Amino acid sequence: MNAPTTAPDARGATGKTADARQRATLTDYCASIGADPLLVQGAGGNASWKDGATLWVKASGTWLAEARRRDIFVPVDLAHLRAAVAAGQLDVAPRPLGEGGLRPSIETLLHALMPQPVVLHLHAVELLAQLVRPGFAERLRALAEAEQGAAGPLPPWLALAYHKPGLPLARAVADGLRRQPDTQIVFLQNHGVVIGAADAGAVDALLRRLLWLCATPPRPPVPVPAPVAVDMDAPAPTPPRASDGRPMAPVPDDGVQQLALDPQLFERLARDWAICPDHVVFLGAAPRRHDSAADFHTAQAACRHAPWPELLFIRAAGVYMADGFSAAKLAQLRCYYDVLARQDEHRPLTVLDQAQLAELLDWDAEKYRVALSR
Ligand SMILES: [Zn+2]
Repeated sequence: MNAPTTAPDARGATGKTADARQRATLTDYCASIGADPLLVQGAGGNASWKDGATLWVKASGTWLAEARRRDIFVPVDLAHLRAAVAAGQLDVAPRPLGEGGLRPSIETLLHALMPQPVVLHLHAVELLAQLVRPGFAERLRALAEAEQGAAGPLPPWLALAYHKPGLPLARAVADGLRRQPDTQIVFLQNHGVVIGAADAGAVDALLRRLLWLCATPPRPPVPVPAPVAVDMDAPAPTPPRASDGRPMAPVPDDGVQQLALDPQLFERLARDWAICPDHVVFLGAAPRRHDSAADFHTAQAACRHAPWPELLFIRAAGVYMADGFSAAKLAQLRCYYDVLARQDEHRPLTVLDQAQLAELLDWDAEKYRVALSR
């Protein structure tokens, strides 16, 4: 299954045609899955294909959804990465080929380590909903065993504990692949999945099988409270105000609003916030959560140096955002709701601990990615 190692300019017309086909198919595939918020959130997730000694990998900060509108792939020197991996130098910096100015994905090494020609890494909601549950590996094993029938067993897979994306995660994946070199699926605790196969079609077939295997029905939404009859003598309920005194806007997503309206989800905000790296990198280490807008303003006034929140959860009232709350952040927030809505209300989740949060939030590569987001 290893990709050929001939240099790109020595492959001849057949190699070029195969590469063009791989690129066209994968571009279409990325655009289609990128449009599904249950599979891809904003700039999250990445894809790659190997073409001889070149690895084409999604550029950091670009969106899979834009694959047809702009060139989101960066060519990097695969032979260089493989030589470094063979020498045990997993901290190697990928060497981009050609010009373009975009950085290769922070997960480039993950793609180089997987031996298959096409590799997809996603934070798909149905999978993430399993990967935040304690004992997820045993649960996946039981699901996979129960499911194998006509489709046969799943291809070789691994389930890894949480590691910070980048070098620590690459090390864990490299160790796993040493133990089981024909691995095609890697489940990453509190993170997502990596799938490798011959082409986009084969990757998609595996992804669909995993989604079906892991699917959990979301809890039904609680009804949105009906507007109260206008009482001219009663003060109108006021939304929380931003730092400039103007009202904060409700987040325009009915699912996200459930995080404040559904009492079970509102309680979960406090204890089950840090479910995965992208969530924390885009939305911060802890939520701002208050019982009322008045309670929020009292707390804010009591601590003059407290930064004004970009995102605010008010119990039973709504979820509010400040001006400039980006589409990338909104996509992360929606993902958070989708994952929480798939949990049994009585079961705790595995969340990132303080040390894991600290290493994530002081990370230059992630700051670059957030700066590129919009
Ligand atoms: Zn990831």
